[in-house]
Amino acid sequence: MHQPDTTPWQAAAACAGLSPSVVFSRRGKEAAPALRACAVCPVSRECEAAVAPAESWFDGVCAGRLWRNGRPVKPRRRRGEAVAPDAAAALDAAVALDAAAATLVPALAPALAGATAGGTRD
Ligand code: SF4
Repeated sequence: MHQPDTTPWQAAAACAGLSPSVVFSRRGKEAAPALRACAVCPVSRECEAAVAPAESWFDGVCAGRLWRNGRPVKPRRRRGEAVAPDAAAALDAAVALDAAAATLVPALAPALAGATAGGTRD
């Protein structure tokens, strides 16, 4: 029987096309493309649950953070450089917005349909 190489969530990973040397880098500069991918990744929670970085002593990028020996690496800050927002916090905000939109859009659909079907304005 054929076994798939990836699980469904891995196939949906925003980092799926990136080189393993980027995703599993221990260095922030090299890992930057993977960290950017995490910010829009639809399977961040599945990734973190599967990798369990702290328990697995993970090295690389997972769920919006760079991990080294299972510990999140704090972004380095150069003098005068602004701190990039935490990708995980940005992802959480995006997920919350997506959930709110998913709730609001069906609720508003009848009203929107009525507004468009109702025709003309005076
Ligand atoms: S959360 Fe980041 S590392 Fe995990 S699958 Fe998504 S893009 Fe890849």
